[in-house]
Amino acid sequence: MKLEMYCNECQHEWREDYENANCYECPNCHSTSVYRSRYITCQCGATVYCDGFTNECDGCGTLYNAFGQMLAPPSQWDDEDRYECFGPQDYDEEF
Ligand SMILES: [Zn+2]
Ligand SMILES: [Zn+2]
Repeated sequence: MKLEMYCNECQHEWREDYENANCYECPNCHSTSVYRSRYITCQCGATVYCDGFTNECDGCGTLYNAFGQMLAPPSQWDDEDRYECFGPQDYDEEF
């Protein structure tokens, strides 16, 4: 898993390994106002951002969790797992 960093001050963009990125300071202007998003490279070569609970690859549709771990398609999940992830399908949204 890697991080994509974006400086709010000077719009500098760079990437770091997730494990090494202890310091979120812009190497260009040393601002700490840095936006970061986690991403992984899918087996198909596409970049998948892991900002949500489940994240789908635009290239091949593979699902990843927030930690960049590959998930089986929801159709193969246990009912309980699907429930935890997506909640009750017939839930009344007014409550
Ligand atoms: Zn900067
Ligand atoms: Zn993919």
